[in-house]
Amino acid sequence: MRTFTTIASLKKYIAEQKQNGASIGFVPTMGALHAGHISLIARALQECSVVICSVFVNPTQFNNAADLQKYPRTLETDTALLAQNGCTAVFAPSADEMYPNDNTTILAFDLGTLDTVMEGESRPGHFAGVTTVVDKLFNAVQPNIAYFGQKDFQQLAVINAMTKVLHPTIKIVGCAIVREVDGLAMSSRNTRLNEHWRRESVQIFKILTHAKQLATKGIEPSVIIKIAIENFSHTQLQLDYFEIVNANTLLPATNYTQPCVLCVAAYAGDVRLIDNMRVE
Ligand code: AMP
Repeated sequence: MRTFTTIASLKKYIAEQKQNGASIGFVPTMGALHAGHISLIARALQECSVVICSVFVNPTQFNNAADLQKYPRTLETDTALLAQNGCTAVFAPSADEMYPNDNTTILAFDLGTLDTVMEGESRPGHFAGVTTVVDKLFNAVQPNIAYFGQKDFQQLAVINAMTKVLHPTIKIVGCAIVREVDGLAMSSRNTRLNEHWRRESVQIFKILTHAKQLATKGIEPSVIIKIAIENFSHTQLQLDYFEIVNANTLLPATNYTQPCVLCVAAYAGDVRLIDNMRVE
């Protein structure tokens, strides 16, 4: 597996690969890799001859300095895991490579209401930072297909909207959520949970599963939200939001005539976790 730290060297490598007829798959990550990330690599390897994984903890998408500072960084193990799983190349730039001379100018792309709800509301500026870095990464990698997890459901919607306009030749593929045996959605942040919070965090999956069952029976979204909020109040988790939204617009759903997604964000101690489930 090749490792690149500069955009110039990565671009040169990709141009050579494309000249040889390669199709480029791209998996952007912030590292601390787990089986969820690897499922994206595996999917990319099925569909592309060259798979590039980026590992970059993007400062512009953190609205909380402590969260950025505490974000796990495990590049050496990440690189080994990627090599073991057949990834072709890893791109691990420094912050200075991505934002030269501390220029953190944010991409001016209007996300409309996609950015005003849920994560957008709780983490102001988060998606502007995400679109900024993904746009830079897309310019560097110029992939044929880019792979994102449905775990970050709202991020996937935001990336789809941005890509359609700014990178129309890139195809976006959304991949299913990979979970731990007890149901907790895999996340790099899970490594920060102590034993107590790790046990407690499974409540997110349990409450979501119950809410999804109610939705499948046709119970009104507003009633389910009340029940879910009540259920969270019996746990030690601190709920940030529990929403049932239209899968396309991300606006609150009032019925199930369109595909809906149940979305949750909650704190397990000082670790913020998100999860979601789709209802057709
Ligand atoms: P991150 O490193 O957290 O920025 O995630 C990089 C990519 O991996 C994003 O597209 C995530 O949605 C995806 N991802 C993270 N966790 C999971 C998971 N448990 N299952 C599937 N995809 C995931």
